[in-house]
Amino acid sequence: MSVIAQRDSQAVTVGQTLLNSVLAQFDAAAERLQLDDGLRHLLRTPQREVTVSLPVWRKRRELTVLRGFRVQHNNALGPFKGGIRYHPDSSLEEVRALAMLMTWKCALLRLPFGGAKGAVTVDVAGWSSEELEQLTRGYARALMRVLGPAVDIPAPDVGTNERIMAWLMDEYSLGQRYVEPAVVTGKPLLLGGSEGRSEATGRGAALTVLRLLGKIGGRPEHLTVAVQGFGKVGRWAAATLADAGARIVAINDWAGGAYAPRGLDVRTAMAYAAEHGDGHLREFRGGGAESISNAELLALAVDVLIPAAVENQIHEDNAEAVRARMVVEGANGPITAEADEILWDRGVVVVPDILANAGGVVVSYFEWAQNWQRESWSLTRVRRRLAAVMSRAFDTVWERHRADRISLRQAAFGLAVERVADATRRQL
Ligand code: NAD
Repeated sequence: MSVIAQRDSQAVTVGQTLLNSVLAQFDAAAERLQLDDGLRHLLRTPQREVTVSLPVWRKRRELTVLRGFRVQHNNALGPFKGGIRYHPDSSLEEVRALAMLMTWKCALLRLPFGGAKGAVTVDVAGWSSEELEQLTRGYARALMRVLGPAVDIPAPDVGTNERIMAWLMDEYSLGQRYVEPAVVTGKPLLLGGSEGRSEATGRGAALTVLRLLGKIGGRPEHLTVAVQGFGKVGRWAAATLADAGARIVAINDWAGGAYAPRGLDVRTAMAYAAEHGDGHLREFRGGGAESISNAELLALAVDVLIPAAVENQIHEDNAEAVRARMVVEGANGPITAEADEILWDRGVVVVPDILANAGGVVVSYFEWAQNWQRESWSLTRVRRRLAAVMSRAFDTVWERHRADRISLRQAAFGLAVERVADATRRQL
């Protein structure tokens, strides 16, 4: 098999595993809600899937053709909303799963959005800024007709950032012949981005930890925390919890990590990561840190483990090794369906992705609303409103979890699927 074919088949396996988990979670919720077969079928199926080929000139002479996707799962509650990912393991299956998760997430948080996701199967390590720009503008042109501020609004995800959002917005605006900031969120502040957007997902995850502590009793100063992935989500989850007094004992990235039982200085680690780039954390020695492998980090005996990297990280083969009391899903789908059952049987409290990492789309909604109204809110206002929205959602999930004696994931999925099913039924 060629290297490209091998990569493609690995990507499909990663995506299919995630899709199986997400569909299993949906099926379980549909069963509990006793949805009829027709509605189940409708909600399991994305409304639209687009696959495009994206030619990019690399080093100005080599033509590389990449595959890009956009899946729009359901828009019963509002325009489609969801991130764009640049990753070598991305596939249509993965994007389908992530689009569906977005539908449930927006419904759970009571945002006026449906769910979508996009990706390009690409390893952009070593790509120049010009090459990234070509790719991004090509993606925007190829999908021009299915995106729009009242149709489908992308945002950053793994491997993408605010610079990429700025190119997307510009290319879309060129196509429309007017400037349209509301077509993407996660933009630079100067171009209509929101205060507090970059920290929002990690901050939201940290807020769910604090809310959970409030329910089960405990103080942040007594918490030990390990965070897998030190990107846009992981670093802000770590920083917010450290600010609340928790001890962050381990962090990592794809290449390795740093461990300090007495606690790491997260701000120094953030500065280190900004200076050295992704993939160098295992060399970080601040606070007497030593190097730690990914498997060791996931198995640390901490109070809280936050997987904030990519999907399928806690699976059948390593779920027994997890010794954390609480696992808070910063990433989308970091725990497979099989591992979820193992953790539940072992009494580990899992805060599910559609709740734990929803802070990003909440502040994306604030950004979008500010763009429509030509307003710009202060950081204090954004943080206050984010805390209010996250707390309300957490409490609703908690109440259903207690009342029905089901896991937080089952409660969250139940609430979300119920809302989307109700809205869809009324439109049929
Ligand atoms: P990112 O690209 O900014 O960071 C990802 C981090 O994970 C990097 O530090 C990378 O080195 C690390 N990583 C990758 N594979 C790893 C592995 N096998 N082991 C350890 N570390 C690994 O991406 P992000 O935006 O922080 O997204 C992380 C996760 O959070 C994804 O699942 C994403 O879908 C989800 N998410 C992101 C947002 C957002 O606003 N960015 C919102 C909701 C959910």
